[in-house]
Amino acid sequence: MQKITLEELVSFLKEQGFVFPGSEIYGGLANAWDYGPLGVELKNNIKQAWWKKFVKQNKLNVGLDAAILMNKEVWVASGHIGSFSDPLVDCKKCHSRFRADKLIEDFTHGEITGDGMSNEELTQYLKDNNVVCPVCGALDYTDIRKFNLMFKTFQGVVEDAKNEVYLRPETAQGIFVNFKNIQRTTRRKLPFGVGQIGKSFRNEITPGNFIFRTREFEQMELEFFCVPGTEMDWFKHWRKYCWDFLVSIGVDESKLRYRDHEAKELSFYSNATTDIEFEFPWGFGELWGIASRTSYDLTQHQEHSGKDLTYLDPETNTRYIPYVVEPSVGVERMLLTVLFSAYDVEKNTSEDGKVSERTVLRLSPALAPYKAAVLPLIKKSHGEKAEEIFDEFNRHFSTVYDETANIGKRYRRQDAIGTPYCICVDDNTIANGTVTVRDRDTMEQQTLSVEDAIKFIESKLEF
Ligand code: ATP
Repeated sequence: MQKITLEELVSFLKEQGFVFPGSEIYGGLANAWDYGPLGVELKNNIKQAWWKKFVKQNKLNVGLDAAILMNKEVWVASGHIGSFSDPLVDCKKCHSRFRADKLIEDFTHGEITGDGMSNEELTQYLKDNNVVCPVCGALDYTDIRKFNLMFKTFQGVVEDAKNEVYLRPETAQGIFVNFKNIQRTTRRKLPFGVGQIGKSFRNEITPGNFIFRTREFEQMELEFFCVPGTEMDWFKHWRKYCWDFLVSIGVDESKLRYRDHEAKELSFYSNATTDIEFEFPWGFGELWGIASRTSYDLTQHQEHSGKDLTYLDPETNTRYIPYVVEPSVGVERMLLTVLFSAYDVEKNTSEDGKVSERTVLRLSPALAPYKAAVLPLIKKSHGEKAEEIFDEFNRHFSTVYDETANIGKRYRRQDAIGTPYCICVDDNTIANGTVTVRDRDTMEQQTLSVEDAIKFIESKLEF
């Protein structure tokens, strides 16, 4: 059972300073969201966790930060200009616009995705299954037509076709076009991977479900280059690695599932694709796509650029184009998944039988915006010492200081934003230098020296 609806989560996140509607004072911009003081920390921590596990600590992989604007020919070669499109359909009665495949996905609560269906098959499915317009209830759609998702703009002062550039719709192509540079400068042998985190832009027909589908989003992608013939082993390896990563950062495993693409759904260049899906309040949705892409991307770039992108295998002394396995995930979708997994409302009964509720964001300490909150029991008596301790803690990890309201209220505030440890500074701190460390999840308290409290929290930040 979901503990919170999407609408409740959106208002909770706004209230607490995680996510605000974009351009709000001007009436907003559809589906644009801004990350507030807590949201930016949580988002950065998610990116850091991914970077750590997929790049820093993985001896097979290295990182890259490529430009968003790329030569137009990149997108011709990758097939995005020709065929990066979604099936657009209009309701003739109320003129609402939809993605035909998503109408089916929503209608079946994620059980059937329209991936890989032709326009004719999509049209037939809508008719046969009475998939009516979700806005007005009519079953009267226009023909399905292709809508290209690329955002186009101009580079330089003249707005003509020669100066057209596109905002990248994925970060992957920056990795492919740098394959040779990276392989040469790192002197890597196959297999090796290149990871990248960065913004991508897609002019989605129907963005929505809060930050699940937006036109501007961030991706964390790994392109893993391997010897042809070994790709299925690596595909299985990354498929599991991604799942384990999600569990390690606190995603609710009971809401995860793999969805292996059937042969007819696969892109023509892919010999295996799996989505890791999460059960959102509206049904299962793609969180992470893992695709075995054969040698398609590098072959395309070799043909279009005229540059040799082959790899000289030192073992066999032969040249070939490496195969690629790509795990690709959106930062915002991961953030949403983490939040749905962490949000909890707990009922507590006190000794005198009174029932109270507390909201707890059970974030993994590694992801929590603040790792600790330093709270003087009484501002007047303990404030000065608490500020000293706050400075000390903040040198080690992100800490917040709060001296307003009574201690109970301050604990609740920190519980709701996911701070795993509250440090109470009281008379004992002044007398003998110990602090009380309160655990967010169990509410249990222990007394430790400042030094030990820091060590204790640091030990919990590993994942
Ligand atoms: P969908 O079918 O949901 O449109 P996709 O199959 O087109 O997604 P990919 O091209 O495989 O998505 O992109 C890889 C990942 O990037 C997705 O699994 C998702 O996490 C993220 N992503 C893609 N499009 C968006 C978007 N519009 N908003 C937020 N995240 C996105």
